[in-house]
Formats: sequence, C-alpha cells, structure tokens
Amino acid sequence: MKKRKALTIEDLGEFGFIARFSTDFLKNLPPTVLGIGDDCAVLPWKGRKKLLITTDLLVEEVHFLRDKISAADLGHKALAVNLSDIAAMGGRPRWAFLSIAIPTGTPIAWFDDFFRGWKRLGRRTGVHLLGGDTTASKGGLVINVVVAGETDQRYLKYRSAARPGDVVAVTGDLGDSEGGLRLILKKTSPAGLPPDERYLIRRHCRPRPHLEEGRFLARQPEVRAMMDVSDGIDSDLRRIMERSGCGVKIYLENLPLSPALKRCARRLGWNLDEVAAAGGEDYCLLLTVARNDFPALARRFYRRFRRPLAAIGLITDEKNRLRYFRNQLPVILGKSGFDHFKV
Ligand SMILES: [Mg+2]
Repeated sequence: MKKRKALTIEDLGEFGFIARFSTDFLKNLPPTVLGIGDDCAVLPWKGRKKLLITTDLLVEEVHFLRDKISAADLGHKALAVNLSDIAAMGGRPRWAFLSIAIPTGTPIAWFDDFFRGWKRLGRRTGVHLLGGDTTASKGGLVINVVVAGETDQRYLKYRSAARPGDVVAVTGDLGDSEGGLRLILKKTSPAGLPPDERYLIRRHCRPRPHLEEGRFLARQPEVRAMMDVSDGIDSDLRRIMERSGCGVKIYLENLPLSPALKRCARRLGWNLDEVAAAGGEDYCLLLTVARNDFPALARRFYRRFRRPLAAIGLITDEKNRLRYFRNQLPVILGKSGFDHFKV
C-alpha cells in the first residue's frame, strides 16, 4: 500500500491553517466577545467602551532582512503594523507589549536605534509600552508585539458587514510598499537613490497607520465593513468576502497609484496591476460603503484629510468570487501574476 504523505503547513497555507484550528476556539464564546477572524479581538470593558487587542509577529529572514532595514525603521514598523489593526476597527491605541528573541552578539546600539523608532511613533500616537518578554534566539531576531486599544461599541466596524451593491474604497495609494520591497531586494544601499525610489522604500520601511482616518470612518454609519491592507487587496478582499458572504468586482483603472510608483514601474518593467493588487503592507484602510452615500462621504473625507477616498470596486452577491476588470474587460490572476484575457 502506498504511504500517504503527511499534511504539512504548505498544503493548508496560512488561512487554511487558521480555519482548521480556530473553529474550536470560536465555540462557546460569550456573545460580548469577538474572537479570531477580524483585525482585532473585541472584549467588553466598561459600559459602551470596548477593549481591542491585536498582535503581530516579525521574523528575521521572513518579514525583514536586518541588512536591508534600519533598526529605527524596524522599531517604527513593528509598532505601526499593530496600530494599523486598531485603525481598522476605528479605535484609539493605548498600550503595547513587546517580546523579543535576540540572537547572540546583537549590538546594543542596534536596540538603541530600534527603540528610537518605536518611541517616536509611540509618543505621536499615545501608546505606552507596558511589558513583554526578552529571550535568546538560536536563529534570527524575532519580534512579537501586542497592542491594546479602545473604542465605543457604536463605532465598531467588522469585516463581516459588507453588502451587495456597496462601494469598495481605500484610504491611500496601493503598491508603494511592494515597489519599495522590490527595490530593497535589488539594491544594496538606499543612499544616493533617486527620489522616487527613496519614496517607495520609505513607504515600505515606515508605514503610516491610518488611525485618524479609521476613527473618522468608524463614526460614519454608511461605512459598513472595514479592515487594513496588510497582505494586499487581492488577499484582504477575500477575508471580507468570506466574512460577509459576498463577492467583489475590482476596476483596476481605479486603483490609486502614486506618481513615484508609476514612474518606477515604467522604468523597471513592473506589472502595475500585480504590484498594486497583490503587493502587501500598504497599511491603508479598505472599506465598503453604502452606494448612495458614497459621493457625500468621499467629499467629507477629502475636506478632512485633503486626500481622496478612492472607489475601486463594488460588492456583489457572487459568494467568494473576486473579479478584476480593466475598461470593462475581465482580467484574471494567473499563476505568475495577472494574465489579461479578452472576451
Ligand atoms: Mg489587519
């Protein structure tokens, strides 16, 4: 008899893994608690106030290369990616916990810089570090951050609230971070780079969590589902589709792209659709809005932030079906990125 190969993590993938093991932990939760499946867990606190908790893990060689990102940028980014999840729930971040596994021989000066980057963002956003754990690592550097925040239960926005007909929108440019990553992996030093390339690398290394935007949008009743763009809209929209039981149509010509990204893509031959839709770590917000209310909301958003709220698609009733279009023609995602086909 042929021996069956044991199931490995590669067979399930990240989301298959979470689906397999989260089921038991979602059973018997009190109705006031939101567990695995959104940007943050939501816990009852006092009265209408809710406690938000999120966590992220950064592993050397998986999420970052120590010779390609400065310690100060990594300190900023480790906190920023967690704040982005608080922004996605419309919350205000308050407290953080930081656990680090440190390889032997790591210079303390590296941590002086790491904490300089962390503290600057922490001060700006009102986040206090309350504790954590420090240990040795026999492999690379491992950084785990937990952030807790608060919000009013009236303003909570979940991934599960999208409805057919909603406009899909984003609060910032897409693809800059992926562009920056491609440049980092190519070049040895950011010194002496042209301004466009420096801009994209900065967008990758120092993402800005959209906290103000998140709190503003959370207060608008016409905003239905909201999450942050961490894995790229192609992957993140699938989370909204699963949770909301719907489908999505994306109009690629409407994706907001920075002039720097467009110029770099032209010069270096990048497929812009692939960079913008499949690239991750932009950390802007992805939301769905009741269609009739979108134009007025976009105007209010522009008045407040002086940046557009970009409509990029529509929610459909085709369960778990994500379709891309360019100028009315369907575009499909092939194995090696996006393949265009015409009908
Ligand atoms: Mg998230």
